[in-house]
Amino acid sequence: MRTFLPVLAIVVPCYNEEASFPLCKHALLTLAEELIAARKIAAESHLLFVDDGSSDATWSLIEQASQTSARVKGVKLSINKGHQAALLAGMEYAKADILVTIDADLQDDVQAIVQMVDAWHSGADVVYGVRNDRHSDSLFKRKSAAMYYQLMGFLGVKQIPDHADFRLLSARAVTSLLSYHEHNLYLRGLVPLLGFPSQRVFYARKKRVAGEAKYSLFPMLKLAMEGITSFSVTPLRIIAITGAVILLFSLLAIISIIIQKASGNTVSGWSSVMVSIFFLGGVQMLCLGILGEYIGKIYLESKARPKYFVEKLTPTPGDAPSDGQ
Ligand code: UDP
Ligand code: MG
Repeated sequence: MRTFLPVLAIVVPCYNEEASFPLCKHALLTLAEELIAARKIAAESHLLFVDDGSSDATWSLIEQASQTSARVKGVKLSINKGHQAALLAGMEYAKADILVTIDADLQDDVQAIVQMVDAWHSGADVVYGVRNDRHSDSLFKRKSAAMYYQLMGFLGVKQIPDHADFRLLSARAVTSLLSYHEHNLYLRGLVPLLGFPSQRVFYARKKRVAGEAKYSLFPMLKLAMEGITSFSVTPLRIIAITGAVILLFSLLAIISIIIQKASGNTVSGWSSVMVSIFFLGGVQMLCLGILGEYIGKIYLESKARPKYFVEKLTPTPGDAPSDGQ
């Protein structure tokens, strides 16, 4: 049981969220006031919006909001770096005893934060927001998500099913999480590795309140592909795909050769030679490609490029305007 009143920072990554920002800000500010009034969090608790290089009015809305409410703070990244990097920036910049990360589109239930804070008071360092109702997702998304969790489990990756990036972290959980310096950031895979006391809070995931999803299938694949090509790991992936295709063809060839053999159409010895050339060629290329994936990851990690740059912060009262230095 924890007894002191923690400063809560709610970190919200925002990429072109001008449509949902006002609603999101209102919902979170109301919640923060409720929690403060209920003496669950300290009066200095605040919201930290991370503008992930938006090209719309998101940043000016954040700035305006910070002028009208002392509870609103903002960090502007110099360029769009993606959801995970924006979350990381928020975690690095937030100064608080507990931190909640939530998307700007209000798909996650804001009221679940009350239970998260209660769970922290009762001793949890990590509180996972888990969706118990995926009705707002398409059948395809639900099925592919289920298969994905199964595959990850099979590969030995510890993950909380139906949990995305809606979670509460205590200060020590944040410090520990930030000590992972991975370039390939996958926070929902890293958090379970922390091992501190954790709890789950269940909620129904809603539809996006306004604006477009930034992560619909094709933009997501495109973004992924752009990232890959700019770091030129793609050739490695092509090897794997080519290997898989050749392997498939060789399997078809085997079937066809067996049929031909049965009908007496083959020169003896030819079939076995051809099949083994194709089959082994395919297997080798597939293996090379998989190896390549890992080498590609090492390549990216060894560069240790900075994950984001902060261009601006909202000024804190009494401070000179900051340029993020
Ligand atoms: N987001 C971001 N950078 C990006 C893409 C998305 O900061 O490059 C933010 C976005 O503003 C939102 C959250 O990440 O607050 C989740 O994005 P979205 O709702 O589009 O994803 P989905 O709900 O489809 O997973
Ligand atoms: Mg969303």
